Amino acid sequence: MLIVFLITFLVAAAVGQSWFHRRLRRPELLRRLSLIAGSTLLVANLCCFVTDAPEFWRTADLTATLGGMAALGVAMTALHTGGVPARQPRRVLAIGAHPDDLELACGGTLAKFVDSGHEVQGLVMSDGKRGGDALERSLDARRGAAFMGLSGMSHHNFTDTELSRHSQEMVAVIEGAIARFNPDIILTHSNHDQHQDHQAVHQATLRAARQHHSILCYESPSATRDFSPSVFVDIDDYMDAKVQAVRMHSDQLGKPYMTPERVRGIASFRGGQARRRVAEAYEPVRLLSTELEKL
Ligand SMILES: [Zn+2]
Repeated sequence: MLIVFLITFLVAAAVGQSWFHRRLRRPELLRRLSLIAGSTLLVANLCCFVTDAPEFWRTADLTATLGGMAALGVAMTALHTGGVPARQPRRVLAIGAHPDDLELACGGTLAKFVDSGHEVQGLVMSDGKRGGDALERSLDARRGAAFMGLSGMSHHNFTDTELSRHSQEMVAVIEGAIARFNPDIILTHSNHDQHQDHQAVHQATLRAARQHHSILCYESPSATRDFSPSVFVDIDDYMDAKVQAVRMHSDQLGKPYMTPERVRGIASFRGGQARRRVAEAYEPVRLLSTELEKL
C-alpha cells in the first residue's frame, strides 16, 4: 500500500510540473483530485499503523488501493495530446514590450502553436521595473516562456515606460532576431493600444520587419476601442494553459487585468466574435494566406 501511496503523490507532484501540466485538458481539477487521493492514502496508512483491528486494516488498505488506482486512472485519461500536428512546422516570433505581455495577449496561441509542432521564440524589450521588481519579473518571463514551450526567449533591458527613446536600438534587435530566426509569422503589439511602450514596440516591429510578409498584432489589456481584429485563434483547449501562464507572473498578480476572470472574459468575448467558445484576436498588418493555412 505504501507503494501505491507514493505513486499517487508522485503523480500529484508531476501534475504540478509545467511540462506535464501543459498536456492536460483540466490540469487544476486533476491536480486537486490527485492531492485529495494522496491525502486519503496518507490518512489510511497512518490508521493502519495505529490500529491493529484486522477488519479495519483490510478496509483501509482496499480503500487506499482503490483511491490510488482512481487517481492514476484520472491522470491517464486526462492526458491531452495538444494541438493538431502541423504538416509543415513554421517559425513564429512573438515580440513584447514587458515581461507579461506575451502571456496576457497570446499565451494560448503560443502554447497551441508549440503543441502543434511549430517553433516559437519570444523577444521582450524591457524588464518592467516600473511595474515591479526587475529581477523577479525577468525570472517570471522565463518561467512563462518555458511553460508555454518557447524554444527561446531573448530579454532586453531597454528603459521601462520610455521605450520610444530606444526605437533605433529596438529596430536593430528585432532585425537581428529576424535574421537569425527567419520567422514565418511575427506577432507584436497593436498600434491601437494606449500604452506608449506597446506603441513603440509596434512601430519598431513594423520598421524592422518592413520586408516581412506576415505580421499579426495581438490584443493587450491596454488595447483601445479601436482594436478591430479579423484573425482569431481558437484556444478552447488552451484556456487553462493561458491562465496558468499568466499566473507565472507572481509579481503582477495584484493587477486587475491579471485575474483569471478578466483573462477568461476577454477570451470569451473574442470567442463570441469568432463563433467559438474562447479565442485570442489579432489585427493583421499583412498576412500571406499560405502562412495561415499551415498553422
Ligand atoms: Zn506591456
